[in-house]
Amino acid sequence: MRIDVVSIFPEYLAALDLSLIGKARQDGVLDVRVHDLRTFTTDRHRTVDDTPYGGGAGMVMKPEPWALALEAVVAASPTAARRPTLIVPSPAGAVFNQAMAHELAGLDHLVFACGRYEGIDERAIDWARGQFDVRPVSLGDYVLNGGEVAVLAMVEAVGRLIPGVVGNPESLVEESHSDGLLEYPVYTKPSSWRGRDIPEVLLSGNHAKIAQWRRVEQFQRTAERRPDLLADVEAATLSPADMKA
Ligand code: SAM
Repeated sequence: MRIDVVSIFPEYLAALDLSLIGKARQDGVLDVRVHDLRTFTTDRHRTVDDTPYGGGAGMVMKPEPWALALEAVVAASPTAARRPTLIVPSPAGAVFNQAMAHELAGLDHLVFACGRYEGIDERAIDWARGQFDVRPVSLGDYVLNGGEVAVLAMVEAVGRLIPGVVGNPESLVEESHSDGLLEYPVYTKPSSWRGRDIPEVLLSGNHAKIAQWRRVEQFQRTAERRPDLLADVEAATLSPADMKA
């Protein structure tokens, strides 16, 4: 998968060199390229923002450097025949979730446009619809200073779903949100620690019992912490034992 990120703080994205995403880049599984928006400015001061029309606080990112940067990214796209997907991080976007991460992980070329200040001139986003599938996406219902943190989160969530990024693909199966529920509690050695023992069933060696215990824990935890998720879990996926829990 090819990922391009455009930002006025390219150093912010240095974390994409680390850990599993960094290794996937080294191995050629992910081709991540970070671009400095300021290199697409044409004035001496490398200006990327200006005051908002209509007044109000803050500054707005100018459309011209965005158009030049995005044109350059399209021109270098490995998927020339198709439209890359342009993710525009924004608190006014659709909220990112695991289903969206799966959907994005199936695409060949993602481009991220990191806004700053009060955001990007809307005409740049409209113009981009001619070359990209444009998707404004929010990390959650709060406001960050810029899109970079959102991009780090999204690239990690999407990247780890790409075959070859996570060593053991089975670890992706039983995770929070993989089946609409939260994950069950997990434990490691020692079995007794500071007066706390792990649940006995985990030492039983009985895989069916362990699976049932985990399923009940998933259901209970989801009901306690995220009851909103239960509405989306199809009744068919819940066994009578889950329902009792
Ligand atoms: N004035 C904008 C609004 O109220 O919708 C917020 C601008 S915010 C200070 C600057 C940039 O941070 C945004 O353009 C976006 O790139 C990023 N950002 C802020 N909150 C975000 C969120 N919840 N999800 C994704 N990106 C966010």
